[in-house]
Amino acid sequence: MSDPFALLAVTTLLSVMMLAIVWSLRRCGQPGVTLWWQANLAAMVALLLITLRGRIPDALSIVVANGALAWGLALFHAGIARFCGRQPPWRAMIAGTFAVVAGVVTWRYVFNDFNTRVVIVSAFHATFCGCAGYVLVRYRPRARPASHYLTTAGFAFFLSAAHALRGVLSALSVMDHPATTSTPGLNAAFLVLGALAMPGLTMGAVLMIHDAMVRQLEAVANTDFLTGVMSRKAFENEAARELARAGRGGPAPVLLIIDIDHFKAVNDTFGHAAGDAVLAEFARLAAASLRAPDSIGRMGGEEFVVLLPASSLEEARAAAERIRLLAEGSRVSGPYGAVRYTVSGGYAGWHPGESVAQVTARADTALYMAKLSGRNRMLAHVPAPAAASAPCELATGEH
Ligand code: GH3
Ligand code: MG
Ligand code: MG
Repeated sequence: MSDPFALLAVTTLLSVMMLAIVWSLRRCGQPGVTLWWQANLAAMVALLLITLRGRIPDALSIVVANGALAWGLALFHAGIARFCGRQPPWRAMIAGTFAVVAGVVTWRYVFNDFNTRVVIVSAFHATFCGCAGYVLVRYRPRARPASHYLTTAGFAFFLSAAHALRGVLSALSVMDHPATTSTPGLNAAFLVLGALAMPGLTMGAVLMIHDAMVRQLEAVANTDFLTGVMSRKAFENEAARELARAGRGGPAPVLLIIDIDHFKAVNDTFGHAAGDAVLAEFARLAAASLRAPDSIGRMGGEEFVVLLPASSLEEARAAAERIRLLAEGSRVSGPYGAVRYTVSGGYAGWHPGESVAQVTARADTALYMAKLSGRNRMLAHVPAPAAASAPCELATGEH
C-alpha cells in the first residue's frame, strides 16, 4: 500500500478484468449493461492515466484522468438508473462532469491548489455514489430477494460517505498533497478506496445482472408461453404450497379442472392458429374472472386447472359456472372465421392429508363425468360415504 504506483497499476489491471466480465455480459439483454461496460472503459482509461502521473503531461494525468473518472462514475449511475427502469439524468451527468473538468483545469493551471481539486472531485463522486445508492434502494426490482441490490447500494453509500469525508478533510487542509504529505495513511486509504470504487461497484452490478437473468428464466419457466397463465410446474408448486397451508389449519381450497370441448374439431375445422387463439382467449377470460388469491395454470393441450383457496364447494360452483358462461358467450374471430366453443369442468374440495395429485385425480373424475354427461357443464366431485367403495358421486345442478 505504501507504493501508490504499484497500487494503481494493480487496480488498473483489476479494472481491465472487470471490463472483460461486463463485456462478456453485454448481450444478456439486461438494461444498463452497455452503460456499465462504458463506465468501466472510462474508469480504466482514467486509472491508467493516473498511474502514469509524473511520466506524462498533467493535462492527461490530472485533467483528462479526472474527467474520465467522473464520466465513468456518471455512466455507472446511468446504468443503475436504466437497470431500475429509470431515465438516466443525462443533463446532470454532463453538467457535473464539465464542472469537474473546469474546476480541475482552474485549480491546476490558474491557482494550482491540490486540496481544492480534491474538494471538487470528491463532491462529484460523493453525489453520484449517493444517487446510485438511492436509486437502487428506491427502485430496485421488488419481486426478488434484496441482498444483491442492498449490498451494492450499501457500497455506493459507503463510497459516498468516504468521498464526502475526503472532501471535508481537504477543505480543512487536514490532508496534504500525496508528494509532500504529513498524512500518508489517510492518503493511502483514500487512494485505495477511490481505486477500488469502480471494480467494487461493478462486482455489485454483475451480481444484479445475474439475479435479473435468473428472474427472467424463472418467469419463462413458470409461464405458459401461449396463454400467459402459469405453467404446469409452477401451478403444481403453488398448489402444493396452498395445500401445505391448509394442512397447517388454514381454510381448505377447491381444485377445478377445465377442458375445452371438442377442441380437436376446432383445429380440424378452423386450423391450428384458430385453436391457439381459442386457447389464449379462454385463458384470458378465465384468469380475468378469478379472485386475486386464485391461480390458474395450463396442464397441457386444452386443459386448464384452477386453484380456489379458502373456498366452499358452493363458491367453487359459482366460479366454475362463471367461467363456463364466459366461454359459452365467447367468439374468437380471425382470418379463419369466427369460432365458438364451450368448456367442461370438474372440481373437488381438498380433504386433509390429500396431495395435489390426489385432489387433481378426483377433480379429473368429475371432469370425465361432465364430458360423459353431455359437455358444456361443471360438475363437483363428492366423495362417497366412507363405507362405500364407489370412487365418487357427482353433483350437478348447473345444467
Ligand atoms: P373433448 O371434448 O372430449 O375434450 O374432445 P377434444 O377434441 O377437446 O379432445 P382431444 O383430446 O381429442 O383433442 C385435443 C386436441 O387439442 C388435440 C390436439 O391436437 C389439440 N392441441 C393440444 N395442444 C394444442 C395447442 O397448443 N394448440 C392447438 N391449436 N391445439 C392443441
Ligand atoms: Mg377437450
Ligand atoms: Mg383434453
